[in-house]
Amino acid sequence: MDPARPATGRMTFRAPRGTADLLPDEQPYWKLVDSAALLTAQAFGYRRIDTPLFEDTRLFQRGVGEDTDIVEKEMYTFADRGGDSLTLKPEGTAGVCRAYIENGMPNLPQPVRLFYLTPIFRYDRPQAGRYRQHHQFGIEAIGDPSPAVDAEVIELGWSFVTGLGLKRLAIKVNSIGDRVCRPAYRESLKRYFAEHIDEMCRDCKARLPRNPLRLLDCKNETCQRFGDQAPRSVDYLCEPCSSHWKELLEYLDDLQGIYPGIKPQLDHRLVRGLDYYTRTVFEIQPPDEGGQSTLLGGGRYDGLIEQLGGPPTPGIGFGCGRERLILNLKRQEISSGPPSATDLVAVFVGDRARRKAYSLVAALRAARCTSVMAPPSRSLKGQMRYADSVGARYVLIVGERELDRGVGTLKSLKDQTQIEVSLDPSAIASAVRATS
Ligand SMILES: [Zn+2]
Ligand SMILES: [Zn+2]
Repeated sequence: MDPARPATGRMTFRAPRGTADLLPDEQPYWKLVDSAALLTAQAFGYRRIDTPLFEDTRLFQRGVGEDTDIVEKEMYTFADRGGDSLTLKPEGTAGVCRAYIENGMPNLPQPVRLFYLTPIFRYDRPQAGRYRQHHQFGIEAIGDPSPAVDAEVIELGWSFVTGLGLKRLAIKVNSIGDRVCRPAYRESLKRYFAEHIDEMCRDCKARLPRNPLRLLDCKNETCQRFGDQAPRSVDYLCEPCSSHWKELLEYLDDLQGIYPGIKPQLDHRLVRGLDYYTRTVFEIQPPDEGGQSTLLGGGRYDGLIEQLGGPPTPGIGFGCGRERLILNLKRQEISSGPPSATDLVAVFVGDRARRKAYSLVAALRAARCTSVMAPPSRSLKGQMRYADSVGARYVLIVGERELDRGVGTLKSLKDQTQIEVSLDPSAIASAVRATS
C-alpha cells in the first residue's frame, strides 16, 4: 500500500485478474499432486532444479521464438530500476537450459535429468483452468539425442498422471522433423493452406507466411477441418528423423506391457505452440475435451541450447499445469485424501489452568502433534464449540482442581469417550497417536 495515502476504509482489493488464491481447503490437492511429482521424478532419476522467476527478456525472445504467441502478446515484461528488460517466466524450459549452460552441466554425465515445480506467467485471456499465474510440474532431459529418452519422458508423464488415479486419458504423439526436413514440409503446408486461407480465421491468415505449422493446431472449427486434410509431417521426415520416430514407437509399444492403458495415437495436427520443438512432440489429454485442455505436453528441442549460446545439445521435456490437473482430479472424483485435522485443542478453566494448557500445547507441538489452545477469551462452552468447529479429534480439558493432582481429561470428539490423563506431554501425545 502507498504509505503516502493512508487507507480510507473504502478501498477494496482483489487478486489480479486471472490469478487465484490457493486457499487452505484446496491445499490437500496441491500436496497430493506435488508429492506425486516428487516421487515420480525421483523414481526416474530426475533431480530438482529451481531457476529465478524472472530472466533477461532476450532469453525468452530467443528461446521461445519470435513467431510464437507468447512473444507476440503474452509475456509479463518490465524494465527494472537499472534499465534492464526482464520477463516473468512464460514457460519453464528456457530458464533451465540457461542454467544448464551457465552452471557447466554440459560437463556432467549426459543426459542431465532435471525437474521443477514453478509458477508460470502469461498475459492470457482468463478462462476455466487457465490463469495468468499458473503452476507447472516440468521435467527436462538434456544431452542425449536417443529415442529411448523420448520414450522415458513420455513414460514419466504417463506414470505421473495415471499414478494419481486419472483414467481414460489419451496420448497424442507426432514428429515434426528437424531443420533438415522441416523446410520442405513447411513449404508444402504453405502451398496447401494458401488454397484455403480465405475461409480460415484471422489468426491463421496472420500466421501463414511466418509459421504455417501453427495453422494445424488452430482451435477454430473451420480451420480444424482444413488442418485434418493437411499434409502430415511424418510423411516428410528425413532418414535420421524417420528412424528416430520408428524407434520411439517401438519403445512406446513395449510400454503397453507395463502400463496397459498406454496407447499412443499419431496426431498430425499436434505441433505444440513453441518454435523450438524438433522431432517428437506429445500431449496427454483428458477424456471428453481434446486439445483445448491438454493435461501435460512437451517435446524435443534439439536446437534450443545452441540458440541460447551453449554447445549443440539435444534436449526433451514436458510441462504439466497443476491447476488443470487438479481440475481433472475433481472431475474424476478422485479424493485428495483426508483433510489435515487438528489433533488436539486444549480447553481450560481458570487462570492457572490457562497457563498450564499453553505450556502443554507448546510441548505437544514441539513433538509434532498438531495442537492449539482454545481462544482464552471464551467461556468453557465457547472453547468446546471452537474445538468442534475446527474438527479436532481430541479435547484436553485442564481444570483448576485436577491441576493439583497433575491430571486432566482427554475427550475424543469422535466417539465422545473420555479418559483421565496425566498432564505430561509425552503421555498425552501417545494417547492421541494411539488412535491416529
Ligand atoms: Zn484458424
Ligand atoms: Zn529430419
